[in-house]
Amino acid sequence: MTQTPAVRVRGLVKEYRDGTKANRGIDLDVSPGEILAVLGPNGAGKTTFLRQLTSELRPTSGAISIFGVDALADPQRAKGLMGISPQDAGVFETLTVRLHMELFARLKGLDRDEGRKAAATVIDELGLAGDADRRVGTLSGGQRRRVLVGLALLGSPPLLVLDEPTAGLDPASRRILWDVLLRAVRAGATVILSTHYTEEAERLSDRIAIICAGRLIALGTLPELVARVSDPYRLSYRDPSRAFGDLQVRRFAAFAEVESVIRGLGLSEYSVATASLEDVYFQLAGASFPVDAVADAS
Ligand code: ADP
Repeated sequence: MTQTPAVRVRGLVKEYRDGTKANRGIDLDVSPGEILAVLGPNGAGKTTFLRQLTSELRPTSGAISIFGVDALADPQRAKGLMGISPQDAGVFETLTVRLHMELFARLKGLDRDEGRKAAATVIDELGLAGDADRRVGTLSGGQRRRVLVGLALLGSPPLLVLDEPTAGLDPASRRILWDVLLRAVRAGATVILSTHYTEEAERLSDRIAIICAGRLIALGTLPELVARVSDPYRLSYRDPSRAFGDLQVRRFAAFAEVESVIRGLGLSEYSVATASLEDVYFQLAGASFPVDAVADAS
């Protein structure tokens, strides 16, 4: 018997009222226990895609099922299987972090004791214990982002749908969040998250979906995607015949070619790297590369 996918999307199209075709026919299955990272340039249609998964937006056409539940016919039931962290969610500014978590836990159907326990666990896991009694309105952007993800985690839902959960987080907070998500997966959750950080997609996810101009242009594990890059070996060196030669970067299809160039030029100092997700992204998504990644690459 084949396993029911955590998420099954077929022929998903979203055309906004003004005629913008934000999703142009997306087919995708996500297996239970998987972490899927959705990557794509600004305006590619990632948020539109996630908002349809969570029943916040109704597709123009297509089908979505969540653990076998038809999300278009029965959005409430489908939503009950998810923890959602939207990109720009409203929060109750005057509530403390703890009360905010407890309120949402109650809204998710936990009783008071369960809600308190769930809130305390999530606050602890996300490193927010020191801020638990601060009003949400006084938190920094990064702390607020962690609260939003925490709200999604309450009650351990089987599917987490997180729109850019680590945007604006410092590296330490980002790692805390990765650990929390990995723990949730070990406890049985499935995660779909969008991100602008190729490193995050590489390190955290089992598979990566690249959306570009409303279409899913690539889907696979990191090695599967890297295998699609032409000339995946990158040799960097400085011309040994000149004291301060420019840095040369050359790409090759096979490692043997790299070795023969190193031998031929008599290089003693050089570095060889294999293609990264960033290279895959550059080749597949073309010029529309995320701003942060361009900054990193420069
Ligand atoms: P991403 O999350 O990848 O940045 P979005 O899903 O937010 O992309 O947007 C995809 C496209 O749909 C963009 O061209 C955006 O301008 C457009 N769009 C998003 N929301 C709306 C809306 N409510 N009405 C019309 N167009 C929209």
